[in-house]
Amino acid sequence: MALLKIVKEGDPLLRKTSRPVEQITPRILQLLDDMTDTMRHANGVGLAAVQVGVLRRVVVIEVEEGNVLELINPRIVAFSGEQHEREGCLSLPHKWGITNRPRAVVVRALNRAGEEVEYRGEDLLARAFCHELDHLDGKLFTDVLIGDVEYER
Ligand code: ZN
Repeated sequence: MALLKIVKEGDPLLRKTSRPVEQITPRILQLLDDMTDTMRHANGVGLAAVQVGVLRRVVVIEVEEGNVLELINPRIVAFSGEQHEREGCLSLPHKWGITNRPRAVVVRALNRAGEEVEYRGEDLLARAFCHELDHLDGKLFTDVLIGDVEYER
């Protein structure tokens, strides 16, 4: 198990666009494992590679305990509805806020075996998909807030 350092707000890396993974190498598999360890250790439900300093389109999500979704080069192929719920981010540890997100999304990605997979997420899982995929394009949840940032110490 390896814990990686989480990049925090203010680091310009968080505003960069991540590059697609061209080949799923042992290094990418190690990254997935380390990202899952790091996400769990920080009690998060999702983590994008940029948040551990790697500008690659790789995301892990664990909304349902024990069911880690590993997404390589993910993209949203469909979305519907709207939800306004409270959201936070491991890179913005003391900030929260209500975001505007679709209520349901369909995501396609590669899994660690290089196979195309498709997931449909609603509610929290839909928020997690949108939040983590936004990270790959340098976007943060504070960009889609409706209302003010809430601070929590
Ligand atoms: Zn985040």
